[in-house]
Amino acid sequence: MRKLTPMMQQYMEIKNQYKDALMFFRLGDFYELFFDDAETASRELEITLTARDCGLESKAPMCGVPYHAANGYIDKLVSKGYKVAICEQVEDPSVAKGIVKRDVVRVITPGTLIDTNLLEDKKNNYLVSLYMSSLGCGFSYVDISTGELLSTEIVGTSIEQNLIDEISKIEPNELIYFVEEEDKIGTNFIEGIRKKLNIHISKYDPWTFEESYAMNQIKNQFNILTVESLGFSLNHLGINATGALIHYLKSTQKRTLSHINKINIYTFTEKMVLDISTRRNLELTETIRGKNKKGSLLWILDKTQTAMGGRMIRKWIEEPLLNIQNINRRLEAVATLKNDILLRCELKESLKQIYDLERLSGKIAFGSATPRDLVALKKSVAFLPDIKKLFENENSGLLKELLNNIDTLEDIQALIESSILDEPSISLKDGGIIKEGYNDELDELYVAAREGKHWIAKLEQAEKDRTGIKSLKVGYNKIFGYYIEITKSNLHLAPENYIRKQTLANCERYITPELKELEDKILGAEEKSIAIEYEQFIEIRNMLLHEIERIQRTARAVAELDVLYSFAEAASENNYVKPTVNSSETIDIKEGRHPVVEKVLENNMFISNDTYINTEDEQLLMITGPNMAGKSTYMRQVALIILMAQIGSFVPATSATIGITDRIFTRVGANDDLSQGQSTFMVEMSEMATIVNLATKKSLLIVDEIGRGTSTFDGLSIAWSTAEYICQSLGSRTLFSTHYHELTKLSETYRGIKNYKVLVKEDKEDVIFLHKVVKGNADRSYGIQVAKLAGLPAAIITRASHILSDLERESIQKEQYIIESTAENTLTASTDVANEKQLKLDDFIESEIVKDLKKINLLETTPMDALNILYQLQKKVAEI
Ligand code: ATP
Repeated sequence: MRKLTPMMQQYMEIKNQYKDALMFFRLGDFYELFFDDAETASRELEITLTARDCGLESKAPMCGVPYHAANGYIDKLVSKGYKVAICEQVEDPSVAKGIVKRDVVRVITPGTLIDTNLLEDKKNNYLVSLYMSSLGCGFSYVDISTGELLSTEIVGTSIEQNLIDEISKIEPNELIYFVEEEDKIGTNFIEGIRKKLNIHISKYDPWTFEESYAMNQIKNQFNILTVESLGFSLNHLGINATGALIHYLKSTQKRTLSHINKINIYTFTEKMVLDISTRRNLELTETIRGKNKKGSLLWILDKTQTAMGGRMIRKWIEEPLLNIQNINRRLEAVATLKNDILLRCELKESLKQIYDLERLSGKIAFGSATPRDLVALKKSVAFLPDIKKLFENENSGLLKELLNNIDTLEDIQALIESSILDEPSISLKDGGIIKEGYNDELDELYVAAREGKHWIAKLEQAEKDRTGIKSLKVGYNKIFGYYIEITKSNLHLAPENYIRKQTLANCERYITPELKELEDKILGAEEKSIAIEYEQFIEIRNMLLHEIERIQRTARAVAELDVLYSFAEAASENNYVKPTVNSSETIDIKEGRHPVVEKVLENNMFISNDTYINTEDEQLLMITGPNMAGKSTYMRQVALIILMAQIGSFVPATSATIGITDRIFTRVGANDDLSQGQSTFMVEMSEMATIVNLATKKSLLIVDEIGRGTSTFDGLSIAWSTAEYICQSLGSRTLFSTHYHELTKLSETYRGIKNYKVLVKEDKEDVIFLHKVVKGNADRSYGIQVAKLAGLPAAIITRASHILSDLERESIQKEQYIIESTAENTLTASTDVANEKQLKLDDFIESEIVKDLKKINLLETTPMDALNILYQLQKKVAEI
């Protein structure tokens, strides 16, 4: 039987440990892929598939990419969801006995990117670890490029819903999981997430989630004795998820990740939870159609100057606060920055100069920071004192706290300034990194290299003089080193001691013993200095490893400052006001505007509107009005103003009082969720179900035309009973828009329901939208007029008008009939009740107790019996 060649055996042994990854196997200047990996890679990367003798009868399919261009290919594979294992030579080939040892030095996965173009500056790249048991779910996630690590547990009801909301909020690129009892929360659920959110999901080794193993992983990572010291309670499910996550990072990255030195253990009560449809409907970070940032709230508010600020503002928008004090601290800081234009401009100028300190510290920890990265760090740090100085008069509040957290890192700046050239080379292996004056030995070598250039110039002149060849020159290339070049026409003048080295078309190249001696000196010095420069650089980078926490703390403070700046800038540019956020249950907005629509409309065409809602007599605003009148815009505007206030931003209004809102729910528009096999109507109903199950008195509900996706009577009944339920059982503040004008009758029964309409002006057969929301109810929907505006052919419009008048006539008759029959039914029903009562009374009069009562009256009983009779009487009356 044929055997694999030794190299192929080595390949197989390593590949067996990384079955789920495509293995890039280093051979000389190439990374080669074999067998199935080669077929996949050649297809995905569109590179030629060849074959290599592997010792077996048939050759092994093979394809490869050059080592120096590998990053682009790796990015392409990873962005398609593949994992790539990089297998390098791990011993010096010159000392290897037999085949050079190789091993995987890193596995690159979609969730563990660190230094690639795939990372978006203003977006985190999260990797999630999910642990599901019968008790609930442990949920941890990390951004390895910044070192941010968070963990929580989700228990109680609605676990799956909360999980989907949380995952869709952070938009991870990769998720690893383990489910204890697959039959409870099974593959379907995980599959659903994969399809719905387009994440690379893989089931991970169960034992890594096991509690004691997980605890040890955490303890080792953070160098602590108990996980409680991080803030984990005993049996917290986040422990299992975090432990597995750390294990996964270690086994893919194969190095210590010292920048992951903090964990934020959070609960769902600190921040407002926004479910996936609310986040989408309010277009917080991207639009529903097109999924663009442009047109979203983030687009309006994001004026951040740094990448870190850009990532943080996204997070703030996704996680409004619930603590009034914290909200007001942010608002105060924004007010300070908004009111002082000069301060804001100077802050902007400094922030602009600051590179991504978070990701720079990630690269330092990871050992991938280049000399240019360190120069970027130095340049950024140089602006920190300016920022601190800007706020030296701040005595309290959030700004003061942030400034205290900014470390000016002068020592780091001084270290880099003294050691790294201002414009170092890109490569670590070519020298050109370390400044003169930093290291004595290097300085000597630099002198030698510099002198060498003089020596060569001198030698060149001497040879010119000696030979009389004016065009003679001394040149250099990597293969032959230094040489003397003489053109063909002067060859006869070449001295005898010239040794021919190379013949070219127009010239000959020679060397002399003297030239070689010089070469040894120069190249020796250069080679040595390159090696020392490399060593020195690594030493400097390792020195910075100990400063990572300081850099990270500063980075976070700068990021927060940048977001506050951004809010202030947006407030000033868009004429926003500072909202009053308090613990009341009232929302009172004067002249509110939709932050995005007002920007999209030209010439200040946006019409502002007031809003007043509470939990008593203005609890549910029933809004009617034609299509296109602006109902959805109005309702979303209220939700956005509340959300903006609770993230600490000023709001588009002339004044706003916001009674703190625990959740915002929206049921807006029609969305098919075909990937989940749900129809439009089903999606609508399940969204409504989530709302009524989770909403509290402190919530804000936006219900936009519920019950549209079914027959009119079905829809009307559902909308009707939902409005009643919100009013009677939930008490939540609600904006409820509808085309079912019948619902306006509810205001007669429920004190909390008030009717509002969006004004339109009728102009002959057309309508003009005034976009003004006022008290009252619209009498018509003007659907046909809107259809006409949309450009439907006249034939359809005229026919529709006729059908409408027929239907309206019929409907009046039907309504009359319904009123009459309802009256009749009510009468019959009340007669039935009266009859039943009469029967019970007759029965009572004839009963034994009444006879006994008569006995008491005639004093025919003992006091004890009388008491007993009275007791029986009491029971009977209660029964009746
Ligand atoms: P439908 O019932 O068809 O969903 P609608 O009543 O919800 O309609 P919107 O979608 O809110 O109407 O608004 C329609 C258009 O009217 C918007 O795209 C916007 O251009 C404009 N509009 C809405 N509100 C205002 C406003 N307050 N001022 C100026 N224009 C507005």
